Amino acid sequence: MKTPLKKVYHRAMFVDPDGNVSALCFRTPRAIDLKKALWTNRDEAVTCPSCKAAINDAKEADAIAPKEAAALDALEKGRK
Ligand SMILES: [Zn+2]
Repeated sequence: MKTPLKKVYHRAMFVDPDGNVSALCFRTPRAIDLKKALWTNRDEAVTCPSCKAAINDAKEADAIAPKEAAALDALEKGRK
């Protein structure tokens, strides 16, 4: 019997216009490989340790929102 591959849940951070989702723990925004990992918008469903740590940091610093525009820009540039 095959055990199903357990995929890690990243915290969704950025979505580009094509619907590719980047994770909070990625140093530079890039699309999550959905064959290897999944993403969620619910902090409590996140299983990625790096994302969890980043969520905790962000809660202290309240820093998630202000970064969004710049990183989305970087994600788009990276695709060209
Ligand atoms: Zn992650």
